[in-house]
Amino acid sequence: MAEHESLEFGKADFVLLDNVSMEEFMSNLKLRFEKGRIYSYIGEVVVSVNPYRAMNIYGRDTIEQYKGRELYERPPHLFAIADAAYKAMKRRNKDTCIVISGESGAGKTEASKYIMQYIAAITNPNQRAEVERVKNMLLKSNCVLEAFGNAKTNRNDNSSRFGKYMDINFDFKGDPIGGHINNYLLEKSRVIFQQPGERSFHSYYQVSVCVSVADAMKVIGFTGDEIQTVYKILATILHLGNLTFGVDGDVTLIENTKLVSVIRELLSTKEENVEKALLYRTVATGRDVIEKQHTTQEASYGRDALAKAMYERLFCWIVGRINDIIEVKNYDARVHGKNTVIGVLDIYGFEIFQNNSFEQFCINYCNEKLQQLFIQLVLKQEQEEYQREGIPWKHIDYFNNQIIVDLVEQQHKGIFSVLDEACMNVGKVTDEVFLQGLNGKLAKHAHYTSRKCVCGRAHTCIYLPLSLRRYSVVGFIDKNKDTLFQDFKRLLYNSSNPVLKGMWPEGKLSITEVTKRPLTAATLFKNSMISLVENLACKEPYYVRCIKPNDVKSPLLFEQERCRHQVEYLGLLENVRVRRAGFAYRQTYPRFLQRYKMISEFTWPNHDLPSDKDAVKRLLQGCGFDHDVAYGKTKVFIRTPRTLFSLEEQRVEM
Ligand code: ATP
Ligand code: MG
Repeated sequence: MAEHESLEFGKADFVLLDNVSMEEFMSNLKLRFEKGRIYSYIGEVVVSVNPYRAMNIYGRDTIEQYKGRELYERPPHLFAIADAAYKAMKRRNKDTCIVISGESGAGKTEASKYIMQYIAAITNPNQRAEVERVKNMLLKSNCVLEAFGNAKTNRNDNSSRFGKYMDINFDFKGDPIGGHINNYLLEKSRVIFQQPGERSFHSYYQVSVCVSVADAMKVIGFTGDEIQTVYKILATILHLGNLTFGVDGDVTLIENTKLVSVIRELLSTKEENVEKALLYRTVATGRDVIEKQHTTQEASYGRDALAKAMYERLFCWIVGRINDIIEVKNYDARVHGKNTVIGVLDIYGFEIFQNNSFEQFCINYCNEKLQQLFIQLVLKQEQEEYQREGIPWKHIDYFNNQIIVDLVEQQHKGIFSVLDEACMNVGKVTDEVFLQGLNGKLAKHAHYTSRKCVCGRAHTCIYLPLSLRRYSVVGFIDKNKDTLFQDFKRLLYNSSNPVLKGMWPEGKLSITEVTKRPLTAATLFKNSMISLVENLACKEPYYVRCIKPNDVKSPLLFEQERCRHQVEYLGLLENVRVRRAGFAYRQTYPRFLQRYKMISEFTWPNHDLPSDKDAVKRLLQGCGFDHDVAYGKTKVFIRTPRTLFSLEEQRVEM
């Protein structure tokens, strides 16, 4: 139980609820939010509710209060979890990770930044210049990524439109020495289309005031030429958006030819090459290579694909450059000891819209996979702790959503496989064909059904554990193939700007040399998720579950139904149950004594028993709680929260 917190603020740990019911969970969450207690625990999981106002709880003094303390000693806070992850890494040489989840606007990115700040603040006590430099790089790189990967949406003024996993590497002293970033599925369509009220990526609006971003890039180590090229690419994409096509007889042409000159200039290519790439497509038929003219529709498709691909490539290139710069250099494990890692994952939460498409499908699959990992790890961690402490473990039933994960990713019969197969069809490749494929393979699956909606368009329904998610198959094929004509790749590769050229190495191949199909979007995403989960699974995990209290960014409003829904799909109640089915509370013997020794004459002010363990036994027997506890090798385990309350009460009465 958290010290210095009275019940006036509700229960700091949901494990201490009298009854584990949705009602009690919600009323505790609401009470705490209203009292300005935005963090709570479920055991070692932090539950966070976005306060939508500046909180005075992240300053230097707060950092000092959490530094080196145990989780339960202070009120729940992100700093406590960051400190726990850091301690585990430093003391036990463990790689750890902090997984932050929640829907758009719930506060994931803010949380990840506070965690980074905390780690930066508590490390490098000797102010070594090199370590300070690395810390500065890590923090600055965040700001560059936000400029290029975040945008104003209707849900969040600073919404991350990509998933991010960042490793921070530490030396044997526990000081940061470098890092590595993985990015996932950038919402690149945003550069060509935004919903009403939304905007494109921040980078576009910062071009004029972009000095700070350019500064940050410079500080990190981007060269002047590189920064120039970044601007040129942004400008090219803007101009592409204004490019229109028309017809003259049976010839497709560009209506605003002046733009072509501008684009040529920006891309450092030949003017006629730009025009040709926009209007023609080179195809190989047997041994012949012919140039096929686009229809206006095809030309527009190509133009949009080019804009999207250029932005995505730019973003990945920026991440790659940052990685070059921040990666650990010259680390010799023989001299410096093991290099350990804390990973921080800030990735999009479940998305449910009126019309859900390929993107939502990928994002929700990612969340199912992370949820699966959560179930596995939380249970596994419990199990391991009991084993380590020599306490018998009894099995707990929980909903295993592996079946959903399989439904999506399984070889040959999973949804992604069916989609890839449909994309490879020669001849007719339509969303309908994909749907038929699904119906053929999955008709009997308990979590799959399909139907036509009123508009006659095909939908496929996939039942996910907690709610029905309906996806429209319209656009799946196109988005999965994600075609960018080879002509564009060649165009960019042939640029005389070496930075741009370097971004498009595959443009080197001529049409007859291109034999392999590029991997589909679904396969790429699936592979990246599988490796993400493998990476997380071998680390000691810490979780932050973010909740968005309302849709109007208000600091005062706790929308019961909205929050309840999030609690449901995050599986928080289940989490409390799992935690309680074992032991609600555990503490090392010395710490337990420190807190409760005043309750018993045998332990106050000091005990004369052979060990702290014996003293704790004596204390608990004396209170009549012996039946509710188990004694592990180093820790005492208390099964029900009641016992803990009693102890707390007796302590207060003393
Ligand atoms: P997305 O998935 O769209 O990227 P997110 O979960 O990363 O969303 P954030 O960008 O972290 O959401 O938070 C949205 C906004 O909520 C922030 O810009 C800020 O205004 C507010 N906010 C979040 N957390 C806090 C906090 N701890 N204190 C004060 N304000 C916060
Ligand atoms: Mg974010």
